[in-house]
Amino acid sequence: MTNPLAIINPATESPVATVEMFTLEQTNEAIARSSQAALQWRGVAPADRARLLRRFSEVVDSHVEELARLEVANSGHTIGNARWEAGNVRDVLAFYAGAPERHSGRQIPVAGGVDVTFYEPLGVVGIIVPWNFPMPIAGWGLAPALAAGNTVVLKPATLTPLTAIRLGELALEAGIPENVLQVLPGDGGTVGYRFVTHETVRKVCFTGSNDAGRKIMAGCAEQVKRVTLELGGKSANIIFADADLERAAASAPYAVFDNAGQDCCARSRILVQDSAYDRFMEFFEPAVKAVRVMDPADQASEMGPLITAAQRDHVASYVDEANVAFRGSAPEGPGYWFAPTVLETPDRTCRAFHDEIFGPVVSVVRFSDEAEALEIANDTPYGLSGSIWTRDVGRALRVARGVDTGALSVNSNSSVRYSTPFGGFKQSGIGRELGPDALVGFSEEKNVFIATEE
Ligand code: NAD
Repeated sequence: MTNPLAIINPATESPVATVEMFTLEQTNEAIARSSQAALQWRGVAPADRARLLRRFSEVVDSHVEELARLEVANSGHTIGNARWEAGNVRDVLAFYAGAPERHSGRQIPVAGGVDVTFYEPLGVVGIIVPWNFPMPIAGWGLAPALAAGNTVVLKPATLTPLTAIRLGELALEAGIPENVLQVLPGDGGTVGYRFVTHETVRKVCFTGSNDAGRKIMAGCAEQVKRVTLELGGKSANIIFADADLERAAASAPYAVFDNAGQDCCARSRILVQDSAYDRFMEFFEPAVKAVRVMDPADQASEMGPLITAAQRDHVASYVDEANVAFRGSAPEGPGYWFAPTVLETPDRTCRAFHDEIFGPVVSVVRFSDEAEALEIANDTPYGLSGSIWTRDVGRALRVARGVDTGALSVNSNSSVRYSTPFGGFKQSGIGRELGPDALVGFSEEKNVFIATEE
């Protein structure tokens, strides 16, 4: 191995694997192979491309448990979550396996002839994945990209490459031709940024931090390269006094502490209407304390560790300076553990209320009426997700229309469904993933006019 990196289990701090990191030269070679493979892949008949993607989905299905165990060891995800994540890759592949045969152009009425449009593949697509959801985020990019006839070079996060590497092997096992999907573990600045600077890569799908996203967008601008950015979030969970408070409070811990808060959709600000505040907190405290933070491989585990010691220090820096209302528990000993933590934030200027902490820390704040709820919810550069709890349908819709975010739920904290569009407003990103239109983002629309007059 030329460039090996030890992969660490964040629950035990012990090494689980050694992975060779791609060099710049190897990245260039992989992109060249991808470009060659694209010539063949775009010519595969839509029904055959569909069949291969279905087979890929089936092979993933038969490896869900193996992939899930790998993710537990590499990322510290709970086994329950990791099984869902592997199943999500299967489902996204199955969903987009239906797409190649339905990716139709249009016939547009014009004078003097016939006008038709075609969706052409872009060519090579580069997908850059963060460490917080290695499997789903890989799947959300690669499945529609392949369905639209593109080839993919995919860079997993440096810390969490194991499941992506395995998915690359499973693609080959399913019969996806060599080099149509390549997984390139490596450093962001070396492998990931090469997707930005290499002229052959026609689109970059980036999910990660705003700092890296800004650099990637600026780099893509040099070549007017297509780019999708899925960045940070600081989403609001807005709870009105007329809501089912018990349900809202029982669900709220999982809306922010799931995946140890390392979730771009985490509802890390809870906004509670004044008149219901005390009652909500009475329900919320036992719900937080009941979250089972323990060995993620245990079936009963609801929250695992943070990804690294550095992430734990970063998260802790917000708690030291703020007003802790109450906390859950976390194991002692090895592992990057951090107990679920609730901050009461009467002062909204506090850093913890504005920054994306990316850990199990939530701030709770009061509001008086709808207008103030919207003002607080929108007082952030981010706009990814959020929830609204109320029994008043009119209010639910008014507030949903007023919150500047891309993916909202009413009386629920769900964020992502593969059949619906997902993405951010404002600095949470550009473009949408998933949903019925995902292939459009991986295609160029070509217009052809055919004269019919003599
Ligand atoms: P990160 O930006 O550090 O890294 C993300 C990926 O980009 C990694 O693969 C990394 O190696 C690569 N990278 C880093 N610098 C790069 C560069 N200059 N050029 C090319 N590639 C580069 O982010 P992270 O810490 O892995 O992930 C956490 C962040 O991701 C959080 O801000 C979170 O909100 C965000 N996120 C957003 C979504 C969403 O859908 N909006 C989903 C998950 C995570």
